[in-house]
Amino acid sequence: MTLENKKLLTYTLIAFVFAFALRLIWVAQFSDNKDFYWNDQIMINTNDGYWFAEGARDILAGTHQDNDLSPITHPMAKLTALLATILPFSFETIILYMSAFFGSLLVIPIMLLGKSIKELDAGFIGALLGSIAWSYYNRTMTGYYDTDMLNIVLPTFILYSMVQAIQVQKNRYLILIPFFIMAYQIWYHGSYSLNFAFVAIMVLYTLVFERKNVFFYKTILFMSVAMISTYLLLKVLIVLALFYYFHTNKKVNLKFIWALIAATIIFILISGGLNPILVQLKSYIFRDVSSNEQSLHFYNVAQTVREAGKIPFETFANRISGSRLMFIASFGAYIMLLFRFRIMLLSLPMVALGFLAYVGGLRFTVYAVPIMALALGYLVVMTSRNIKNTKLKYLFVAFAMLFILFPNIAHIIAYKVPVVFDAKEVKILSDMQKYTSKDDYVMTWWDYGYPIRYYADVKTFVDGGKHAGDVNYPVSLALTKPQELSANIARATMEYDESAFKEKRAGSYIKMMMKDYNVFSGGELIDLMSASALKLPKKTADIYYYLPMRMLSIYQTVELFSNIDIDTGKMGKSPFFYQTTHIKDMGSKIDLGRGIYLDKAKGSVNIQGKEIPLAMFITTKYNQFQKLDVNKQVINVSGNLIAIFMRDYGRFLILDSNSFESTYIQLFVLENYDKNLFEPVEINPMVKIYKLKI
Ligand code: MN
Repeated sequence: MTLENKKLLTYTLIAFVFAFALRLIWVAQFSDNKDFYWNDQIMINTNDGYWFAEGARDILAGTHQDNDLSPITHPMAKLTALLATILPFSFETIILYMSAFFGSLLVIPIMLLGKSIKELDAGFIGALLGSIAWSYYNRTMTGYYDTDMLNIVLPTFILYSMVQAIQVQKNRYLILIPFFIMAYQIWYHGSYSLNFAFVAIMVLYTLVFERKNVFFYKTILFMSVAMISTYLLLKVLIVLALFYYFHTNKKVNLKFIWALIAATIIFILISGGLNPILVQLKSYIFRDVSSNEQSLHFYNVAQTVREAGKIPFETFANRISGSRLMFIASFGAYIMLLFRFRIMLLSLPMVALGFLAYVGGLRFTVYAVPIMALALGYLVVMTSRNIKNTKLKYLFVAFAMLFILFPNIAHIIAYKVPVVFDAKEVKILSDMQKYTSKDDYVMTWWDYGYPIRYYADVKTFVDGGKHAGDVNYPVSLALTKPQELSANIARATMEYDESAFKEKRAGSYIKMMMKDYNVFSGGELIDLMSASALKLPKKTADIYYYLPMRMLSIYQTVELFSNIDIDTGKMGKSPFFYQTTHIKDMGSKIDLGRGIYLDKAKGSVNIQGKEIPLAMFITTKYNQFQKLDVNKQVINVSGNLIAIFMRDYGRFLILDSNSFESTYIQLFVLENYDKNLFEPVEINPMVKIYKLKI
């Protein structure tokens, strides 16, 4: 082994151990928190992770249910199942540590990039920083079981393979580039734009700087082959055949390569390789063309997510480099790096995508991390070379490293994200397996979909991926409208979900219902579904309502999705719903925060100076037999608001009559269920589960 390779290996190992070890801080912080453990292991901290975990679990079990949305073909689920089969660790351990392991692999392509430009020391500093930098850490920390664990590693490998191929201009490196591009394609379906940008920058680079160099055209050819949308095996065969051809024919005519590139482009066009881009263009150009079919209007999730908008510069800089100063330094360093190594221009797609975060939202910053880290490493090394005194030189490097790494390590220590569900709630979910069938449905908000499917192995109406406005609509109705409507719409939606799957019918279940029941407006549908004698589709599975305490804090969001006139798209008047744990007894008044006071003497609520009479005052309290006592006090029959004091929860609710009548409030807060429609199966202060009787 050459001395250089020994150094490369040592540096890489040290950087990997460093990156992995820092990811154990989170584990250590919660290692004695019982609420974080399930099956003797700390649980994961990302909601979406439970989707992949469900898929992996089902692959290992060799079975899953029709229409249960389990991602058994997802590469992440497959990789997890493979690891669970070959490694001596528990499934829970594997999903907990996969992100820490794969995320730390980022040190390898950063080190290799350093080697390609013959700046190993810069690569080492870059690897240390890049692998733990703020936004990269957040998305590859222990327990962040998501595709993110390789979403930066793979494109950094693509960049390395491009740079390395160009640096040495040897045919064998040409195989590496399509290999990494294809790996990224398989891993992450959103990889298309970045892969496309890599091809584009290579074409530009060639046209500007290397128009006469045959090797560059070969590189473009190999990259283009990877972009064809066809069977993986076919692409691998083409790559190998091309390599064999170039390997045995040293002198190749440039025109011949052009012809091959042209053929590949035609192949890309025919195979629909440009479709992802065309689809986007179409959605821009034909934004508001609705079909002849009667169109309904639903409320969309995107509308509830706070506008992506601009992020403050400080957040942007912190997330890429750990601090503003280091970001500015690495930006300067990056410019320097580009001047010194023109080939690093190939990194522009990743850096540009990262900088897009400044206007397009936080989630992109992470793409700029490895390059900016390498650049900063280069700046430190360059500066140290100008320091003649050896002692001073080492002192400088040590201080620089401290400055670079410290803000990021401080962030890691402070970043104490909790697990998704705590152990008590998971126990309730896991116990559901005893009384449910795997084909039963759980009615709850989409936020809880994936973890519920993982722990209880049931089906859900909505989840982290299935929550378009039209699918959320009936779920929102079921949770925030009166019980009769709730029960009917839940049963109808579940049966339409199943029959649409079996009959391969696409489209909104609401539309199908309207057609089958012969109703022509949203209002009519609500009236129909509120009728107690409604003829419903034949029941094929049970439905359980999963009503957690935590839904209190998102109740208003849940309600929004059905507070819309689906014929016109007009939003209804927002109901009054206020919940708080801020309760301050001031004698005759109770201060409930936000300028809201409950006047005990007058029996009214004062909302920012406006006095509104109370209709009822309700206190709920668990008695010594763990039964909920509900004490109702009618105050003013013509009152508009209802106050509920949930004594054991230390919570106050102020509701209007619509919110008060909602199935969630009646079933969770008051346990006042319609005995013809619901049957309680699990009553716990944290979660209440009811079985639908119809
Ligand atoms: Mn299942």
